[in-house]
Formats: sequence, structure tokens, C-alpha cells
Amino acid sequence: MALFVHKYGGTSMGSVERIKNVARRIAKWHAAGHKIVVVPSAMSGETNRLLGLAREISPFPDVREMDMLASTGEQASSALLAIALQKEGVSARSYAGWQVPVNTDSSYTKARIVSIEGTKVQDDLAQGKVVVITGFQGVDPEGNITTLGRGGSDTSAVAVAAALKAQECLIYTDVDGVYTTDPRVVPEARRLSQISFEEMLEMASLGSKVLQIRSVEFAGKYSVPTRVLSSLTDPLISLEIEMSSGTLINFEEDGKMESAVVSGIAFSRDEAKITVLSVPDTPGIAHSILGPVADANIEVDMILQNQSVSGTTDFSFTVNRNDFKHTVDVLRNQVIPAVKAKDLAVDEKVAKVSIVGVGMRSHVGIASLMFKTLAQEGINIKMISTSEIKTSVIIDDKYMELAVRALHKAFDLDK
Ligand code: ASP
Ligand code: MG
Repeated sequence: MALFVHKYGGTSMGSVERIKNVARRIAKWHAAGHKIVVVPSAMSGETNRLLGLAREISPFPDVREMDMLASTGEQASSALLAIALQKEGVSARSYAGWQVPVNTDSSYTKARIVSIEGTKVQDDLAQGKVVVITGFQGVDPEGNITTLGRGGSDTSAVAVAAALKAQECLIYTDVDGVYTTDPRVVPEARRLSQISFEEMLEMASLGSKVLQIRSVEFAGKYSVPTRVLSSLTDPLISLEIEMSSGTLINFEEDGKMESAVVSGIAFSRDEAKITVLSVPDTPGIAHSILGPVADANIEVDMILQNQSVSGTTDFSFTVNRNDFKHTVDVLRNQVIPAVKAKDLAVDEKVAKVSIVGVGMRSHVGIASLMFKTLAQEGINIKMISTSEIKTSVIIDDKYMELAVRALHKAFDLDK
């Protein structure tokens, strides 16, 4: 018997019927003698509905009130789940974030967890209760309710698991694990039974949307064994089968000797590329260009600059497509006049495709197989960036799916 944290996403909590199924599943774990803490999301669509109501009233609603509002979604689903558990004959209790408490800083709508007080929860568990803790929310030092950013209940669950030293954090969701790539793009994509923490971190930051990136960072920081698995299976399937299903994010340094060199292909469509043309190749130029962009709170992803033989050079970088117009404004108004650049060249519709694998550390020629594969498909590479365990390319957005399919095949991920 051990302590497990279960997290159920919005789809898993999406209706009264589904909440009853979640309760049946938890009752099964509880009956086997395990201590269970559950962290639910709001019912699917609820957070959007609430935020939409506020925006109908005001285009720029106060962020403190937005957190007050958004946190109610999880409060409702948690209470409903506790009621469903009690109906199953399981003694259960739900707590809002501030009651635990889950302590956060005061950055409304994107707060960070500072600490979690586990005493009350441990007491309830010792009495045989299932404890339900609202995902996505916490409380700041002044007692204000905060939320952790969209998708934040993954992070809540992993943080609770870390604080309670749970044996495993199980993230139940509407997919049955982490795939070699998105099966909607490549039907042959396979579920990975294990993925290393570093690979998962890359996959999450490169556009695989299975887990919120901050939850993966948290899992890494506290070495929380985390499993992604389906909530849509029969809730009464054998515990043994359930405990080994899905994808386990592991922290083993060694192991995985037999595993593939490349584990997965991530992609993101929402990229835009901007080139500042003909800037003087002098010290401080990168800062003069990207300083004002950072000051405008715009996150820059890939950056490319060559040294020049002629005294001027082109400086390219990518941003999220949502930030494209804002970035162009900052460059035109502040940067171009200041650095005396010639002009901008823009590419609003690019995509990033990345191959990820810890095996890349010890194998050469991986990136070159990637480039060869893209060349054979006639796909032009606009930018390249590499790290120890990934290679990313920026390509025209209309070739993205073709690139992902070709790479999936070239690296034998369908086998
Ligand atoms: N309900 C929140 C959202 O929709 C948090 C979560 O689901 O993880 O973003
Ligand atoms: Mg989610």
C-alpha cells in the first residue's frame, strides 16, 4: 500500500457520468489499500466559459478578480467528485487551494507554487479518507486566491505529489500516453511506454501538448515519477494493468540501452520568423535588437546571426505567431532607427519541427539524417538549432505535416 496522486483533466471530469466513473476508478484504488489524493481540473469548457463572461463585461478585467472567478471551476468539480466518492461508499473530503494551503506568489493568472502544507491532508489519509484538492489554484501571502496559468492543474498534481512524497503521480487524460508524435498527423505514431524526463521536457516545450511544461519542470526538480494514462478505459480494469499502462516519465540516468536514438518528433505551427536586414556587425547589436523585444515581454525562441565579412549582417529570430505584429511594431518603432538597419524581412507562417532523443548524445549523424530526409522531400530549411538531445528546424508551415511524416519514417519510429 502506497500513496498515489491522481490528476483528472477537464474531459475526464466533463459530465456527471464521467465524474461517477472517476469515483469508481478511485474507489478501486482505495479498496486495494492505497492512499489516494485526487487533483481534478474544472469540467471541460468551464474555465473558458467563466473567463468569457468576464470579457463580455470588460476587455481588460482585473487579474485578481479573474483568478477569483476562474478558480471556481475547480472548486465545483472537486466538490462533485467528493460527493461521487461518498456515493461509492468511500469517505472523501475536498479542499480548495487556500484550505490546504497551496502557497503561491502573487502573480495572478500565472502564479508559482512556493510550498504546500501537507499536514491536514496526511491526517485525512491516515483516517482512510480520499482527499480531493482543487487543481490550478493556490493562495498568496495576503490570502488572495491565485491561479497557475492555463493547464495548471497538471502542475498542481505534480507539486502535491512532491510535497506528499507520493510513490507516483498519475495524470489521467483523454489520450493514453505520450506518443512518438501526434497521431492526428502520423497515424502510425506509437505510444512510448517510458520517456526520460529530459526528453519529456523537450517534447513539452517544443509543442507536444500532453502535459503543461511547468508540471514537467516540477517533476524534474523533485524527481516525481509521473505517468500519463487514459481516463477513458473501463474504470474497473485490473489495478495491475492500469498501473503499468500509459507512459512513465522516468529519471534513470542509465538504463534504456536498447532504446531508439530518437524518441519522438515534436512540432509547433504557431511560429513566425523575422529578419532585421543589414545591421552593423558590432558589439552590442544583439542586445540592441532583442532588448526592446524582451522589454515588451515577448519571448524569443530561435536566434540566428552570422558574422559578416562586409561589416553588416542579417539578424533573424522567431517568436510565437501571436506576438508577431507586436514584435514588428517594436522593431519598426524602436530598433530599426536605433541600430540603423535597412529593413525587415518577415515570414509570418513558419513551423518548427524537432527530433528529440537522449540517444543523440552518443550517436553522430542524427541531424544529418534529418537534413537528408527533408532534402529528399524538397523542403527548404530556414533555420536550425540544436541542443544535446534535440535538433529543430524552421520550415514553411505548409510542409510541416509532410516533414513530420517523413521524419517519423526515416527514424523508424513506426516500428
Ligand atoms: N481549468 C484550468 C484550465 O482550463 C486548469 C486545467 O485544466 O489544468 O486551464
Ligand atoms: Mg489540461
